[in-house]
Amino acid sequence: MTIPNQIASHLLRSRIGKICVAITGSTADEMLDKAATVLKETTFLEFRLDYLAKPAAALPRFKQFLAENGAATAIATCRCEVNGGRFTGSNTEAAEILLRAAEAGFQLVDVELESAEKLPKATLDKLRETGAALIVSYHDFQATKDLDGILARITPFAPEFIKVVSTARSLADNITMMRFLEKVEDSHNSSVIGICMGEAGVISRVLGLRAGSAFTFASATQGEETASGQIAARTLLETYRVDQVDAATKVYGVAGNPIGSSLSPLMMNTAFRRETVNAVYLALQTSKVEDLFKLVREIPIQGVSITMPLKQDIIPLLERTDPLSTKIGAVNTIFRAQDGKFYGFNTDVAGIIAPLERRMPLAGAKVLVLGAGGAGRAAVFGLKDKGADVWILNRTPETATKLARQAGAHTIKREAVAKAGFDIVINATPVGMANNKSAPLLHPEDLTCKLVFDLVYNPLETPLLRMARQKGIPVITGVEMFVQQGARQFEIWTGKPAPEEEMLRVVLHSLRQAAEAAGEAPAPPLTVSKIERPKPAEPDAPATPPPAPPAKPPVAPAKAVAAPPKPVVAPPKPAAKAPVKPAPKPAAKVATPAPKAVKATAKPVQKAVAKPAAKKVAAKAPAKKAAAKATPKKR
Ligand code: NAP
Repeated sequence: MTIPNQIASHLLRSRIGKICVAITGSTADEMLDKAATVLKETTFLEFRLDYLAKPAAALPRFKQFLAENGAATAIATCRCEVNGGRFTGSNTEAAEILLRAAEAGFQLVDVELESAEKLPKATLDKLRETGAALIVSYHDFQATKDLDGILARITPFAPEFIKVVSTARSLADNITMMRFLEKVEDSHNSSVIGICMGEAGVISRVLGLRAGSAFTFASATQGEETASGQIAARTLLETYRVDQVDAATKVYGVAGNPIGSSLSPLMMNTAFRRETVNAVYLALQTSKVEDLFKLVREIPIQGVSITMPLKQDIIPLLERTDPLSTKIGAVNTIFRAQDGKFYGFNTDVAGIIAPLERRMPLAGAKVLVLGAGGAGRAAVFGLKDKGADVWILNRTPETATKLARQAGAHTIKREAVAKAGFDIVINATPVGMANNKSAPLLHPEDLTCKLVFDLVYNPLETPLLRMARQKGIPVITGVEMFVQQGARQFEIWTGKPAPEEEMLRVVLHSLRQAAEAAGEAPAPPLTVSKIERPKPAEPDAPATPPPAPPAKPPVAPAKAVAAPPKPVVAPPKPAAKAPVKPAPKPAAKVATPAPKAVKATAKPVQKAVAKPAAKKVAAKAPAKKAAAKATPKKR
């Protein structure tokens, strides 16, 4: 880079932000309308001229826009089809469009490495003479490999910015990208932009800036992504608070597959923001616990919500699990203690039990659980712990029988449900989920109960819940479980009471928005009212033989962690305290569960595992003594 160029580059850097919003559209007017909206929040834009049928003809419109919007800093990109763009012309024609774009007022132009290598030197020189800063970019749509080799190919062009975009095939690919950014930041004067594409690459989009990326790219809105895994600008800023992520920011996440549509990042990042915790929570898409652990150790990550299909596979990698997780054979929460070791908990149980206990006492309650998978197991063991009389109905009867034996529950046949009479019916199967077309498991005549709890939370109003409401039976939606299990995770990780009301509000808002976009009828508001339990019905249903005492846990468990739970009382917080921008308002008024006196099943981290009690677990946990002392907490 020449000295005048260095000065220009310096000036440019003082103008640009950390997030560049990619603007697309099939016409110039469409793109400029979007740009005008984006400009209200972000002044750094990339116009994808290759999306236009005739980009050259549209340049006068862009010139006028840039003249009228002096605050905007704009990149012109005209990526050729062969390099993953939409421009059907040649490299030379694309370079000609970029030259005219620079003359029209674009401050930066993006030339693909493949084009830069083919174009005559004079063409690039002409481009530089316009005064526009040059970005030389390379996109690997297959993998994350040979980043140093790519850098070595780009460096001779001495561009103001070097853009290296790869594809994350695993979570570990993000580590490769971030190590690369850290390594080259100083030697390349903070001019390198590094991003991993793909759902597994979200980490690089949020943590890349901290690793040294000059800036990152975002879409204007959800649905307008120009690359796989790209995040909308508002989400990057408001949910991930990417501009506030610094060296001290603690990293958490939700791991599983699929994870793209999980509402956990929205809910947990909202909770961190609400409680002024310097932390960020990411979607970690993977089906392999080894891949997750490589990332968790390298980043390092402080805690992870574990979801399908990792809840059982994760256990052997943990130092210890709490007694309930050991019994259930599944962990949905991991926490890194100060000793660097990982401990496992199951907050799904609290997610199911707490909403039920708000409505009726569980000791002696007769409960039907549909399903015997991970959530079903959490429900059955949690309910048994509370003294409920639990009955299981599962598609695969053998699984139900096995679980009934382990937990001291009963099994029941489908045709016996109506007569059996239950206090509570819980659905712990995916039947009723937005994309699940299976026939309903129960008919209206089967619902002779006092309360129906569907663990499915998307849609808000499942067919089972609608059926129950039509019969006048009170219901609990899966959203309550979702928020409760997340709130307990928050408490384990931070030692602070979770802002449950705020967490519930953003999740409901998001689900209602999605339902509205899909043209669905709005779900009724959530309500919580105490329910009188009827007198126990006569057990005239054909059942399995009397339950055997609980058997060994199904999965070889890690050693048990000293019982974590102790109730935490979450005092309601004044909403005005929110430290950053407020989260979006809910679409409708919601009767939320009372935020008062919410019992946490897991003791706050700082008491349970981290300081000062970290010493307790960290120092003593490895010792067999601690495991022996660990007394399963009465729930
Ligand atoms: P899982 O481990 O895969 O278990 C699924 C259970 O549902 C199994 O018992 C399975 O029976 C049964 N099942 C699956 N498809 C069925 C069908 N078409 N008809 C009848 N039974 C069927 O899943 P999971 O982790 O337990 O989750 C179950 C559901 O709970 C999820 O889909 C989710 O909606 C909900 N959930 C909600 C939350 C929350 O926070 N609200 C948290 C966790 C789970 P087989 O044994 O015959 O396969």
